[in-house]
Amino acid sequence: MNMPVPEQSLGTSLARGWRGKCPACGDGSIFRAHLKVADACNKCGEEFHHHRADDFPAYIVILILGHILVPLVMFTEKNFAPPYILHVLLWPVVAVALSWVMLQPVKGVVVALQWHMGLHGFDAARKKRLG
Ligand SMILES: [Zn+2]
Repeated sequence: MNMPVPEQSLGTSLARGWRGKCPACGDGSIFRAHLKVADACNKCGEEFHHHRADDFPAYIVILILGHILVPLVMFTEKNFAPPYILHVLLWPVVAVALSWVMLQPVKGVVVALQWHMGLHGFDAARKKRLG
């Protein structure tokens, strides 16, 4: 199977996805809302409706945040031993805030990875576009 590959490197595609930019042109936006992927790029028209990110970005964020928050909670408890009510009030807020911040870039990377690899219809759209 001879798949047409994007002209830029995987790193470029993923970096564009991390910034929420179109992996094809790097100028338009992948998203039409915070976590809603646009049907197509608003600059070059590259179609994004093929993506199947599903819950994968959330799994990645949970994995990353778990590795950040658990050591922070343990460090805080070991060194400062604050009252438990502070833990109850602080860490859920931190977890939700960091999740909110991280979800869009991670979802952008997942969509850009699918685009770069030609998964879920991106390859067929690329072949159609290139003729
Ligand atoms: Zn574009």
